[in-house]
Amino acid sequence: MPGFELFDQREIDAVTDVIKRKMVHRYSFQETRNDIYRVEEFEKAVADKFGAKHCLAVSSGSAALYVGLRGLGIGPGDEVITSPFTFIASVEAILECGAVPVLAEIDESLNLDPDSVEDLITERTRAIMPVHMFGAAADLDAFSEICEEYGLWLIEDSCQAMGATYHGKYVGTFGKWGPYSLDPYKLLTVGEGGLIVTDNEDVYRKMEYYHDHGHIHNFSIPRGAEGKACLGFNFRMSEIQGAIGLVQLEKLDGAIANLRKNKKRILEGVDLPAGVRLRDLPDPEGDIATQLVILLPDADSAKKFQEAAGEAGCSCGILSGNTWHYARHWETLREGAYYSRVRCPYDCPYVEDMPLYRPIEWPRTHDVLSRAAVFGMDIFVDDLKIASMQNAIRAGFKASI
Ligand SMILES: *Cc1c(COP(=O)(O)O)cnc(C)c1O
Repeated sequence: MPGFELFDQREIDAVTDVIKRKMVHRYSFQETRNDIYRVEEFEKAVADKFGAKHCLAVSSGSAALYVGLRGLGIGPGDEVITSPFTFIASVEAILECGAVPVLAEIDESLNLDPDSVEDLITERTRAIMPVHMFGAAADLDAFSEICEEYGLWLIEDSCQAMGATYHGKYVGTFGKWGPYSLDPYKLLTVGEGGLIVTDNEDVYRKMEYYHDHGHIHNFSIPRGAEGKACLGFNFRMSEIQGAIGLVQLEKLDGAIANLRKNKKRILEGVDLPAGVRLRDLPDPEGDIATQLVILLPDADSAKKFQEAAGEAGCSCGILSGNTWHYARHWETLREGAYYSRVRCPYDCPYVEDMPLYRPIEWPRTHDVLSRAAVFGMDIFVDDLKIASMQNAIRAGFKASI
């Protein structure tokens, strides 16, 4: 599935070049670097590719979310509505700002259910953040409409959906900003890295300053002499990551084409029994096909499906058991497990109703996830692998339906 499947001599050459030139840092050393800035090139290439005005490269997808929220000024007393089915980083990014993550429900798209968010909007809500899980867009029309109606920011967690589209436009470009993660599990990877795309100049500048201690980045003077725009922190990307990213980006379309072809081939060879559905996609055309999700009639049949498919040689997961991506399993979130004496937002004077995040909080999410079987898709597969997956899926249906 992930981008390191795509590594070849080109990534090796790109890294070698950076090391040979001894220019591993994205900023400074203007006199000796021959005007070569790989991270900046990567940012421009990403902005061009996804049709955004700006792109900021950062150290991880989590950093992208966090820097993005900081750039919007999200802080104590603010609430952000998002999904209980996401990588925990989406929720941690909100907490790190001292703000309150409010978790609604998902629907059979496995993404945030637009119908579940409206009741959760309060005067403290600042933004709604759908997460495009498994490379397929949430219902962005519905979320845009709700955000407009209530005067909220739409922000997308598009970390695991780089290259996915919604009605022909790339996810990540619908809201105030959109992040892409480049960690080793994602379609493209640079080891660790993240990107934030945005059309908003003001937010872009704030994120740029914040991610590098407030540096204003004036290349005509030495870095040490630069002025400070704000307090910030270090979430910089290195030139090594930038150089790998440039090569990886060129492989994106090919990888997506392969994944789509593979998923289509697998599905063409199996009939879905009555009562079985595929994950519901608001825009099937835009799916990057990194996963194949089958929704069984109930939790029991999902377990039987999983067992039989595994015995037939292809293992799949049942999503309700996913401890890092489903809030039901996050004791640390329930407990506010920080090391500090006072923990904001948990012990924050600006927060009136800190949610309890109890395991029973999301009945509809639990229903969907406990009957959802997921297969990871590889970019490069042969006929044998396709046949074996079809075989396993058929065996799963036979045992469960
Ligand atoms: C991967 C991921 C992140 C975090 O990205 P990292 O690069 O691993 O920090 C955030 N949100 C979602 C939905 C992700 O899949």
